Amino acid sequence: MAQEVRGVIAPGKDEPVRIETIVVPDPGPGEAVVSIRACGVCHTDLHYKQGGISEDFPFLLGHEASGIVESVGEGVTDVAPGDFVILNWRAVCGQCRACLRGRPWYCFDTHNAKQRMTLASTGQELSPALGIGAFADKTLVAAGQCTKVDPAVAPEVAGLLGCGVMAGIGAAINTGNVGRGDTVAVIGCGGVGDAAIAGARLAGAAKIIAVDIDPRKLETAKKLGATHLVNSRESDPVEAVREMTGGFGADVVIEAVGRPETYTQAFYARDLAGTVVLVGVPTPEMKLELPLLDVFGRGGALKSSWYGDCLPSRDFPMLIDLHLQGRLDLGAFVTETIALDGVEEAFERMHHGDVLRSVVTF
Ligand SMILES: [Zn+2]
Ligand SMILES: [Zn+2]
Repeated sequence: MAQEVRGVIAPGKDEPVRIETIVVPDPGPGEAVVSIRACGVCHTDLHYKQGGISEDFPFLLGHEASGIVESVGEGVTDVAPGDFVILNWRAVCGQCRACLRGRPWYCFDTHNAKQRMTLASTGQELSPALGIGAFADKTLVAAGQCTKVDPAVAPEVAGLLGCGVMAGIGAAINTGNVGRGDTVAVIGCGGVGDAAIAGARLAGAAKIIAVDIDPRKLETAKKLGATHLVNSRESDPVEAVREMTGGFGADVVIEAVGRPETYTQAFYARDLAGTVVLVGVPTPEMKLELPLLDVFGRGGALKSSWYGDCLPSRDFPMLIDLHLQGRLDLGAFVTETIALDGVEEAFERMHHGDVLRSVVTF
């Protein structure tokens, strides 16, 4: 039987979000219905509301979530009712050219549930944010979007691994290949940048330089493992990073802002043959201009990090285990827990940089 539950809907461009009754169908083949325990408020949800991602209103928002599998459809063997899972937005296909070459974290054909959830009042089909839609009591996803992890973890902590925190940690350990003794600089210390700092520490980086314009954010970055802080409003970040690295620049520079100016800073704050990782998300009108001779002459690697180049089935359980052992402080990313009706106000606080993450708990 299809179920009616509460969900947070973005009805139209820039309109305030509101709670509506939504219809969640029974899971079809390869699908699962998940009872949500917690879901973080991410910038991407705000971008959906603002119409910056697509025009397919109404959206069912929320995508950084953990929950308990309630029911599964035909042919689902990886998860079962009762499993505690983190939802991911890249369920890999196993058959595309990336998957077949053994690089499933690049999967070019990820999938979501085939059936659609609808608005109870009008029957209108909903577009779930990143194929998840977890600001809801329950949601319908592809079973491959569920990754089972140790249920000992707090749900509000676990959910954050589903998006921003994984993107940041993965930018450092998967894309940037940060290793023991490396020097690392992170430009932009919001949730993703701070996670990159935590990832660099986990990987054994010797020096971790946090760069931001907000002193409050730099303080949080320090708690998560930054060894050096640069306020880029007060000093030139390229000069500062070079000074802190013997005049050379950092081995790995992670750009977690997504702007041409900060990317250029990342490019020049990097040592010869070093790596730049772009994990900040730019907007369509942005253009990058760099002397091609410098791109050639400085060598190394310029990489982009999609979802931290993560493989949920490999990375989620491992990072939750490290957290439970006290080696990765995922709890530091949760600024506050809120109720389902607090999402609109949480957007406001996020926009002003007052929180790292607000998390809706159920
Ligand atoms: Zn694939
Ligand atoms: Zn997100």
